[in-house]
Amino acid sequence: MIDLHLHTTASDGSLTPRELVARAARIGVTAIAITDHDTTEGLQEARQYAAYFNLEVVAGVEISAEYEGTMHILGYFIDPKCETLQNRLEQMRAARKVRNPQIVEKLRSLGLKISLDEVIAVSGNKQVVGRPHFARVMLEKGYVKSIEEAFEKYLKKGAPAYVPKERLCPKAAIETIHAAGGVAVLAHPYQLKLPAHTLQTVVAELVTFGLDGIEAIYSRHSQQQTEFYTELAKRYDLLITGGSDFHGAVKPDIEIGLGLGNLCVPEKILDTLRTRSGKCKCTSMRECLN
Ligand code: AMP
Ligand code: ZN
Ligand code: FE
Ligand code: FE
Repeated sequence: MIDLHLHTTASDGSLTPRELVARAARIGVTAIAITDHDTTEGLQEARQYAAYFNLEVVAGVEISAEYEGTMHILGYFIDPKCETLQNRLEQMRAARKVRNPQIVEKLRSLGLKISLDEVIAVSGNKQVVGRPHFARVMLEKGYVKSIEEAFEKYLKKGAPAYVPKERLCPKAAIETIHAAGGVAVLAHPYQLKLPAHTLQTVVAELVTFGLDGIEAIYSRHSQQQTEFYTELAKRYDLLITGGSDFHGAVKPDIEIGLGLGNLCVPEKILDTLRTRSGKCKCTSMRECLN
């Protein structure tokens, strides 16, 4: 069993990298990719701890891209030392620091007594603080009964406390991952909420930017969706990947490796990814050579 999509407290997951590795090992997963939003911070601790188990930790990242809806691009086998990558991620993290006080203001004007300090405290990090952390504080304070309700009532796009986040255009997101020698994969395509023919057009355009794969296997994909995305990948000569998008308490129904219970990511995907990945192409070779 492998799982190529997991979040830690370095972004909006609720387990530390160490806790995540321990849980993955207990479940019997043999390889995980840590794909935190806008950071590679969790990787080192995870790898140190994974050395105690027979567990491979793939260097990953998840980047939000400009699109009407949700478009996330996953990077695999990236070189975390790549300067181009780290500069872009730092830019994304800086944008969050502008956005988060604006969300606090909106929530306060709606009568919810929430401070930025409380949100940062629940995040366990100061660098990648996002909407799931706001949702957790709202839940702890009894303003909502679930994370889902926090998003539905306040935080999702179109809801009263929504503030847009700066994102990279899809081309830049893919190029950033490639600069770091990584493999660029369209995450959870169902979240684009597009009819089949429009999704195909979007994928075709991403392919012109260098997209390498589609995350066809995903916790919340139906069997039918997985089959369709796999077909789509074949049509454009893309590889497929799979993962749970485990976030711990933020998505309590999703388990490492198992997703909602029936997730199954073939181990051979890992070698396909490994073979496809390259070296960091960052201009500052001194910084990037391993
Ligand atoms: P942000 O990056 O701050 O805009 O937060 C987006 C993240 O919130 C996503 O990557 C998901 O991890 C999480 N998220 C979005 N919608 C929901 C939802 N309805 N329930 C739980 N988590 C969600
Ligand atoms: Zn997340
Ligand atoms: Fe995502
Ligand atoms: Fe994710």
